[in-house]
Amino acid sequence: MTTDDRRATVCLTFDFDSISVWIGPHAARSPSMISRGEFDVIGVERILCLLDREQIPATFFIPGHTVETFPDSVRAILRAGHEVGHHGYLHENPVTLEPAEERRVLERGLESFEKVVQVRPTGYRSPAWDNSEQTIDLLLEYGFAYESSLMGDDFTPYWCRSGDQLDLDGPYRFGTPVDLVELPVSWILDDHPHFEFYRSSRGRADGLSAPSKVKEIWLGEFAFMHRDVPDGVFTLTMHPQVIGHGHRMLMLEEVVTAIKAYEGVVFSTTDDAAARFREKNTIQ
Ligand SMILES: [Zn+2]
Repeated sequence: MTTDDRRATVCLTFDFDSISVWIGPHAARSPSMISRGEFDVIGVERILCLLDREQIPATFFIPGHTVETFPDSVRAILRAGHEVGHHGYLHENPVTLEPAEERRVLERGLESFEKVVQVRPTGYRSPAWDNSEQTIDLLLEYGFAYESSLMGDDFTPYWCRSGDQLDLDGPYRFGTPVDLVELPVSWILDDHPHFEFYRSSRGRADGLSAPSKVKEIWLGEFAFMHRDVPDGVFTLTMHPQVIGHGHRMLMLEEVVTAIKAYEGVVFSTTDDAAARFREKNTIQ
């Protein structure tokens, strides 16, 4: 397929949160709750098998705590040729951090990747998709090429902005586009709210959807994009501890097969999708 034949890009992204999300945001201390994060390792193995069978690249966003706790899984991801991206240290929500703390968390995540696998990620995804007011400026300062936490579009990447001003007594004022590509995300295209079930002191989720329902939603979104959005990017967000269960892995396989049947589809890392956007667009 030449570049001109491409009609759609598909990015399979996996947030390898593992234990960090339970002991961090959920403040879990029970071995049972923590073991849910341990299951991520099993999920990653299953996902790597699927990606290998299907011969498609993917991106794994990984907190520094996971990089240090499960280095063999991170090495296996890299050995298979997939991309790794920054996802905080202990899955900290940037909105809850003081500016100096957010900077330190960003540095600490980079240090984990450097120390364990000698890689510097080009992409960032904020835990809980919750950027703070300074996240974009920080990512620029630390040389990131793209980020994937905003929802200002669904299938079309765009330039992030710096300096937005919120006024409760007047119109929202948009800041200046900056040299950081946004690969937008959507809760619709995230496995977590559809499937995950938990009760914790920090909240609850009911999840447990039938995979047939999620498959219908995801493939419906893809069908619309393929038909109506030129050169769209379909970014699925999944979590090994969520999608890694048997019936959901079978669903993911069916989703990949169905998408492959469309014309002009290219599976890509998010880094490559952001680079392609850069090649075709100037900041405006
Ligand atoms: Zn996460």
